[in-house]
Amino acid sequence: MEALRVKVTIRCNVCGEKFVLRGSRDKGSIETGFKQCICSNSNDLEIEEHSVL
Ligand SMILES: [Zn+2]
Repeated sequence: MEALRVKVTIRCNVCGEKFVLRGSRDKGSIETGFKQCICSNSNDLEIEEHSVL
């Protein structure tokens, strides 16, 4: 099984910072390695996923 490559945009709902990361999608969950925002927020995030062709 091959993981799907995706580009993920993560927006922090606390400070508004945006992060663009590359990750992989595996069985419905996305692995990006993102841990937390620079403001220490790690759960109030807006995650947008884009497929990479
Ligand atoms: Zn933040």
